[in-house]
Formats: sequence, structure tokens, C-alpha cells
Amino acid sequence: MTGTRFKIFPQPSFIDAFDEPETVYVSSPAGSLMPGPADHRMYTVFPVDKPAPYGIAPTGNEDAPMPPWHGDILLPAEPDEEGHFDYLEPGTPQFEAAHLFGIVRFVLDIWEGYFGREIPWHSARHYDRVELSILHSLDNAYSGYGFIEVGAHQKDDDFKPYSLNFDVIAHEVGHAIIYSEVGIPDPQAAIGEYFGFHESAADLVALISSLHFNSVIDHLLLSTRGNLYTLNAANRMAELSDNEQIRIAANDVRLSAFAKGWVKEHKLSQPLTGAFFDIFVDIFHEVLMEEGMISPDVEELSDQLLSSPDYHPVMQRLFDEAFAEHPHGFKQALMHARDVMGTYLAETWQRLDADYLDYVDVAEAFLDVDAELSDGRFQRLSFGNFKMRDIGDVRVGPQLAPLDKDSHANSVRTVVPLD
Ligand SMILES: [Zn+2]
Repeated sequence: MTGTRFKIFPQPSFIDAFDEPETVYVSSPAGSLMPGPADHRMYTVFPVDKPAPYGIAPTGNEDAPMPPWHGDILLPAEPDEEGHFDYLEPGTPQFEAAHLFGIVRFVLDIWEGYFGREIPWHSARHYDRVELSILHSLDNAYSGYGFIEVGAHQKDDDFKPYSLNFDVIAHEVGHAIIYSEVGIPDPQAAIGEYFGFHESAADLVALISSLHFNSVIDHLLLSTRGNLYTLNAANRMAELSDNEQIRIAANDVRLSAFAKGWVKEHKLSQPLTGAFFDIFVDIFHEVLMEEGMISPDVEELSDQLLSSPDYHPVMQRLFDEAFAEHPHGFKQALMHARDVMGTYLAETWQRLDADYLDYVDVAEAFLDVDAELSDGRFQRLSFGNFKMRDIGDVRVGPQLAPLDKDSHANSVRTVVPLD
């Protein structure tokens, strides 16, 4: 039994290197998916004349609309004779629906692999299945109770449906995983870092998932020759990556920037995401070194040259040579580092309690996971990266303004039934 084929744009299709969709297999056995696409865990709909997004009351006075959608829908995407969806061509509502479903299934496959089991929906008590809804009038994407709803970005002539945006959808699946695995805190016990953690985890889910596309890995390696140090803190070359997720993750923000308080949870998430990205890069280089593909001198040299103008040319030359000798080994090492991160994060999240969750809890759980799974192999580098972000040294100040309507975590969409 083989899986089901979908065509997916690994990155928003307006980035040149990725303007062709890549064919992927998801775990659903070929022939098992219904029109929609739909299966036992979720179903895709493209509603007609849906007045408002889920979870948000149009005028604020009535109950917020919740799934399921009972109104009219556009024709669903149908599987071909063998049960696949990759025959659909971009430019149709059916392609959008299949693209949305295919990504959600693809990302769930990856993370269920890291968790070693099925990830239940947070809404499982009230909804058998999650509704994947396309609503172009919404300029956002939300993961809520019983639904993932994606809109479109529209400005003048520029129209980009989020159903075609891997990063946006994978990010929303990330929120869904955290709602399910970490939960929602008691309102009195919700502190700012919980919201920052949520955004960070969603971005990491998107980043690690995107590294499951051959084309993304190849592009990253060919454009850097494996010199991810250049994306690492202190020496980053901002323009080096045209990968949106890497741009978000490769940041230099430290937690001390929020000692006086915070406003947007996305900003507050940056120190934590940055720490994990740098840990990922360090693990990658550690693996390269252990496999003898780069020499230990490279790391030492990197430290020595850190703030010198020679840094970039010297380091890049070393990596150009090393990569030319072992292109395949570099790819294996990158995939290995990716899977270490995915496994560690999945294990870390399961240990967290949503009440009073702060970044120190996350860092400590991650270090414990490393101690248990790998005898502390990455303890020192992980600790150093948390430390460099002031995690453990600085307390986050108060919330200075309420979360705004763009917030991915504001209460209206995390609304859950009281019973
Ligand atoms: Zn978000």
C-alpha cells in the first residue's frame, strides 16, 4: 500500500527557486481519501458566501460562528482513479483545497513521526474531525477549536491565497499541536511567555517541516555550502537566505529586550526561536565534525575570527571545499540534525505545563530530554545558546497592551466550550 500523492509548493510560489510544486506522498493509503479532500480526522471545505471567520463574532454581540459550515461550498477536490490528488493544476479552487489538506497531512505525518504516535486534536471532545476552511475574505490564518481556517492576502492587484503558502499552514498546524500537547492555561495562570512560546513552537514546526522537502534542503545547502554559521547569531548575513522561516528563526533578539514589558507575542517569541535555531545549527556542525567532514579547527577558527572582517571569506572558503568533497554527507548531516531537533522538541513539549509556562521551563525540559535521550551530548551547546538569549537570567516584564486582532493566540480563537 502506498501513500497518497499531492503537489505542494514548498515555499510561497513567488520565490523564484520554488515556482514549481513538488510531488510528495502523505501517509494516507492511496484510495482512502474522500472528495474534499477528507479523511477520518479532517475535511476540507471552500464555503460560498461565508460571512465571517470562525471564532470571531462579526459585530461582537452575537456568538462567534463555529464549525461545521452548513452552507454552500464550491466543488470539492476529487481523487483520481488511484486515489491521488497530484493531477490537479494550480489556479483552481480544487487545487487550493487539495494543497491545504496535503500540507496539513504532510506536517502531521512529520510530527507524528517525532512524537511516535498520533497527535490528537485539541477539540476531540466536541468534534470528530477538524474542518479545514478556505475563506478568502480573511487576511489571516487561524487554528482554532475544531477548525483551521486560511484566508488570503490582497493588496491592490496582488492576491495570494494562504492555502498555497506552506509556511502559513504549517505554522497553524504547529499551533494546533501545541493546543493539543501543552494545552491552554487557566486564565489566571497565563503569562506572556506562554504566548511567546506558542508562536515560537509554531514557527519551529514550520521550519523543521519545510526541511522535509528535498528542494528546500538542496537550496539551503547549495546557497550556503553548508556554512550555516553565516546564519548563526553574531555573524549572520541577513540577506543570505530567501527562506522566510529561516529569516524568522535566524534572529539576534535577546530576552533582555523585554525586561520592561512586551506587546506582541510574535516579537516575544524571537529569543526562544533564535535559541533553538542556533542549537540546530550547532548540532549540524557537531555532526559534520564527528563525521570528519569538517575539521575541528573550523569551529576554533570561527570563534577566533568572530568579529573580524576576514570571518566570512575565510569560513566560506573552508565550507566550499568541505561541501564539494561531501555533498551527500552534508545533506545526511542536515537531515540528522533536523530530526534530532524534531524529536527533542516533541519530547520537550510533552513535558510542559501550560500554567505559568515560561522560557526557563522550556529550556530545562529541553536539557533534560538531551540528558535522557543522548546522554547529554548537546548539553553544553544548548545551555550556551539559551544563556546567550538571556533565558534564565532575565525576567520578562508585564504585558503593556492587550493582544491585537492579528494575534494568533488571542482569546477569541482559543475559546473552548466550558462543559
Ligand atoms: Zn501564530
